[in-house]
Amino acid sequence: MIVGMNATASREQIEHVCRRIEGLGLQPSVIQFEPPVTIGAIGRVDYQTHQSILESLPGVESVVAISEPYKLVSRTLRKQLSVVRLGEGLAIGRGNFVMMAGPCAVESEEQILRIARSVQRAGARILRGGAYKPRSSPYTFQGLGKEGLRLLELARQETGLKIVTEVMSTEHLDAVCDTADILQIGARNMQNYFLLQCVGRARKPVLLKRGMSATLEELLLAAEYIAAEGTIDILLCERGIRTFETHTRNTLDLGGVARLREMTHLPIVVDPSQASGRRSLVPPLARAAVAAGADGLIIEVHHTPERALSDGAQSLTLEQFEQLMKSLGPYLAAENKTMDSPVAVGVGSQP
Ligand code: PEP
Ligand code: MN
Repeated sequence: MIVGMNATASREQIEHVCRRIEGLGLQPSVIQFEPPVTIGAIGRVDYQTHQSILESLPGVESVVAISEPYKLVSRTLRKQLSVVRLGEGLAIGRGNFVMMAGPCAVESEEQILRIARSVQRAGARILRGGAYKPRSSPYTFQGLGKEGLRLLELARQETGLKIVTEVMSTEHLDAVCDTADILQIGARNMQNYFLLQCVGRARKPVLLKRGMSATLEELLLAAEYIAAEGTIDILLCERGIRTFETHTRNTLDLGGVARLREMTHLPIVVDPSQASGRRSLVPPLARAAVAAGADGLIIEVHHTPERALSDGAQSLTLEQFEQLMKSLGPYLAAENKTMDSPVAVGVGSQP
C-alpha cells in the first residue's frame, strides 16, 4: 500500500503513521521525503482492514493499494526514476549513462590490466570481468577465483575504474564483496532466491541479470527479493532471452527494456554481448539499447578475442570498443543522457 500524507502533515504525524504500519506487521518506507510525503507499507497487506485503520490517522490523505506482486521496485510505488550511486563520482540512472566494459573472464594480470587501461581511456567507468564463471560445460575455463578477484583489485587501483563481477554462490560472497563495487547476479542464478536474499543483506549495489527464460515480472520479483532485504541499489540487466532463433545466441528483448521503464523505477543496463554472441552485432544493438531507454551498457572487450578463454566471438577488440564509444554520442544526446556528469544536479538520495 502507499500512504499519502497531506501537504501540511507534521513530522510527528509521519512518525506515528510509520509506527502504526509497523504495528500492523508491515514494513514502512518513506518514498518521497518532500511534502506531500508518501510512505510505502510493504508486507502481507490485508487491504480492507489496513486501509481503514491507516486512513483514520491524523495527517493521512489517502491509502492506495499496489496491485503488482512486486512492490518496492514498482513504478507505482515510486514515480521518480532511481539513481544508483557508486561513491561520490559516479551515478547511474535518471540521465546519467554509464559504460561497463572488460573481458568475459579475468585471465591474467597482463590481460586484465591491458584491457582495463584501454576501456578506461575510451570512457568506460566500470570494469567487468568474471573471477567465478558459470560455464555451460564443466570442462571449460571456470575462472581464476580468488586470484581473479585480486587482479580486479589491482586493475581498480591502477585505473580508478569501479568493479562489477559475478557472485555465483554464497560461499564466495564475502570474498567477492571485498573486491566488487557492484555484485553481479548471473542469468543462471536469477531465481536462486537464497543467493538473492544473502546478496540483498550485503548492502552493495547489485547488477541483476534477467534469466534466459524469465518474464519481466519474474525479473522484478527477483529484484524484490533483494530490495526486501534492504538493498534498493539494483541495476536490472537485459541480456537476451532464449527464443527459436539460432542466428543470435539469444534474442535481445528491447521491447522488454521499454516496458521495464514503465514498470519499475530501477535503472536498466543492457548486455548486447551475451545477447548476440557475435561481435559484429554488438555496436548496433548497443545503440538500439540507448534508444530503447537503457541507462548503461555492459560490453565484453578483449585485446586478443581469438585467444580469449571465454566468449571471444562476442568480445569487441580494444579499437572496436573505442569506436563504439564515439558512435554513441548522438544517440545519448537524442535521449537527453550523458556519460560526462559525475552526479546529476538535483538527484535526491534513495529512500
Ligand atoms: C557474463 O556476463 O559473462 C555472463 C555469464 O552473463 P549471463 O549471466 O548474462 O549469461
Ligand atoms: Mn560472457
